[in-house]
Amino acid sequence: MIYAKFHTNSGKRIKYNKNSSVWPGIKFAETINKPFIGWIIGNGKKIDFWRDSWATCTPLREHIDLPNHLWKLCTAKVSDFINSDGWNVPSDIFLAFLAMGIDITSIPCNPNDEDIQIWKSDIHGEFSVKNAFESTRNRLDTAWWWKFIWLKCLYPGLSGFAWRLMNQILPTDDLIQRKGIQLASICTHCGCIAETVDHLFFECTKVKVLWSWATSTFNLAAVSKHERWKQILEKSQALSTYINDLWITMVLSVSRWLWNARNKLRFDERKLSIREIQNRVLREIDNNAKMSKHVVKSCMWKLLNISEIKLCCDGSSLGNPGPSGIGVVYRDWEGRVMGRFYKSVGITTNYLAEVNTIIDGVDKAIHRGWKNLWIVSDSSAAINAFTTHKIPWKFRNKWIQLLSSMQSIRFSATWREADYLADTMAK
Ligand SMILES: [Zn+2]
Repeated sequence: MIYAKFHTNSGKRIKYNKNSSVWPGIKFAETINKPFIGWIIGNGKKIDFWRDSWATCTPLREHIDLPNHLWKLCTAKVSDFINSDGWNVPSDIFLAFLAMGIDITSIPCNPNDEDIQIWKSDIHGEFSVKNAFESTRNRLDTAWWWKFIWLKCLYPGLSGFAWRLMNQILPTDDLIQRKGIQLASICTHCGCIAETVDHLFFECTKVKVLWSWATSTFNLAAVSKHERWKQILEKSQALSTYINDLWITMVLSVSRWLWNARNKLRFDERKLSIREIQNRVLREIDNNAKMSKHVVKSCMWKLLNISEIKLCCDGSSLGNPGPSGIGVVYRDWEGRVMGRFYKSVGITTNYLAEVNTIIDGVDKAIHRGWKNLWIVSDSSAAINAFTTHKIPWKFRNKWIQLLSSMQSIRFSATWREADYLADTMAK
């Protein structure tokens, strides 16, 4: 009854707020309770084929991506596939089940009985508040990582690795020893002390270099001594969903390449340098960036070409027009800061300050011998001026002169937060 009251016909949870004090509680409890609710299948008349958890621990609906209006047409009951002898499943559906890893003939049904709903984590299947509290409490404590590893922006291989990592089933030396197998352990990366999960992913000197590279690439606070997966993954929480996705990819990818590098060295005697690991991680982020559902085209994270220098430009004026400053941060293709400069440019408008930043930034880059440039600015108006060749007259000649000494240049607009370092300096 509660289900009917709070769901639409197609099985979607009603999004608006019911005028009820228990509704938020129900909304919260439903998702965490779902895996605990199951069925002893009788004739199947009470069980919704798509929306109840009867074949796997989640409803079949969650295995299949269909638009909402099609779900409205899916009204089958489990009883539609049972006759008096038992299962009566058409062969194509039978195969579809197998593809999901379900052998339907192994699920018992009793065509002559009624269906019984059960609470799975109680051995008698009976629901009690105490048991529900115990089950869901454990789940909340141990499965905080759930929302991080099944993101759409991660490709399945990386999610799979993350799952093994978070469930602590990677065969690190300490884990093998805990299973009672004797082995002499030494960290493959540094050769100094025994390998434990903590050492391998957080404490080893080689690893620390990678983490500080990762955080500085994203302008995030460094990983401190006691921070572990949860704190590290949550570092980007305050930023936009897109940057968040990229950061989570970064963290998981760094971990995965650490693990791969350890195995390559240990079993193939092939050493991956820190630089090689960094390149692979960047390539992985580059691939995943294209999968993120939050992609805004002009803001896509792009890998720099090897010879390219990235300029994060920001001009800002206090008041428009008002006293203005400009700031540029230069990074190489591995994300390392190569230089930065900022200066005051008198009283001007925001737009002119942004254009001025790009001109001065490029000028300084050329003086340093950097001739392949990627300009990133959060002012799409300024970027537009350059890509359409409509630069304010004041800067036009200077720009033509600069162009003649460059080998390549490209532009993109980005969010303010992505280069807030440049922004802070301009102020
Ligand atoms: Zn080590």
